[in-house]
Amino acid sequence: MQKVVTIGEIVVEIMASEPGVGFLEPLTLKGPFPSGAPAIFIDQVARLGQPCGIVSCVGNDDFGRLNVNRLKADGVDVSAIRVIPEFATGSAFVRYREDGNRDFVFNIKQSANGQIGPAPEVDALLASADCLHVMGSALFCEGVVSLTLQAIDAIKAEHGLISFDPNLRKEMLDLPGMRQAMESILERADLFLPSGPELNLLTQAKDEAGAIAELLASGVKAVVLKCGAHGASYFDAQGRIDQAAFPVEEIDPTGAGDCFGGAFVTAWLRGEKPADALRLAAGAGALAVTRKGPMEGTSTRAEIDAFLSRQGASDP
Ligand code: ADP
Repeated sequence: MQKVVTIGEIVVEIMASEPGVGFLEPLTLKGPFPSGAPAIFIDQVARLGQPCGIVSCVGNDDFGRLNVNRLKADGVDVSAIRVIPEFATGSAFVRYREDGNRDFVFNIKQSANGQIGPAPEVDALLASADCLHVMGSALFCEGVVSLTLQAIDAIKAEHGLISFDPNLRKEMLDLPGMRQAMESILERADLFLPSGPELNLLTQAKDEAGAIAELLASGVKAVVLKCGAHGASYFDAQGRIDQAAFPVEEIDPTGAGDCFGGAFVTAWLRGEKPADALRLAAGAGALAVTRKGPMEGTSTRAEIDAFLSRQGASDP
């Protein structure tokens, strides 16, 4: 079976237990939960039984051990997660506003994650990859960008596949070198998985149809557009497939796109029909939002299949 590898941040997430409260006063926190978009993505891939691994760094601390133990238990190859004793494992504190929006306090670049870069165990894992999944959030430092671009060239030279989720806040595009890095990755991507407004960020197009046409003409084989509770759509040279979101009670939206992406990429690599891959991914995304804690949202194939069978044969 083909091996999926990703490069990027591992963090613990610690969350305010009640919506509406800020970090300006003492409050009850929940966590730590294993997290980091690339880590959640790869955990979802592993839980579907696909060989996979992650290139990352953690500190010599309980937050790092929590993540590594969890990823390993779920089947992720953790051989390229380096322990950097001089730095702490990355962290993200999140609080929820009454309107459902979230505010984060991140410690990523100054954490062990800032040390991600070449090493013998990293090269070995990347050499075994058939598919590299790139997440824009991971491109926070030059070391990750250059490692990613080199890995893309090496994997493509061996006819491997590149999937790309920009997973990006608009202001990140203004970071030095970020737009150029994202454009270089998009140029080489086979599969592009933007969320809503990210579709247009890297094209000249004014609307969805224009952006899709531009992306497919530039060499991207397929685009999967994620639109939260509004569902998702798949586009390739043959046309478009829409998948409504499954009705669920949203408890915690963090990680839905990563679980969706992990499920879609796995099904895509296994040669499943786009409509089936989209339905599986929408099931993974829907299940993810029903659970508190970012990586708690990942599901096994049996869990997703059971959920989908309760939705009936046709889309809701
Ligand atoms: P991202 O986290 O990358 O922005 P989305 O929020 O678009 O990604 O979520 C990815 C997918 O997960 C959606 O396209 C949808 O299929 C599913 N999903 C997300 N939120 C919900 C929800 N509230 N109800 C049902 N499905 C959801």
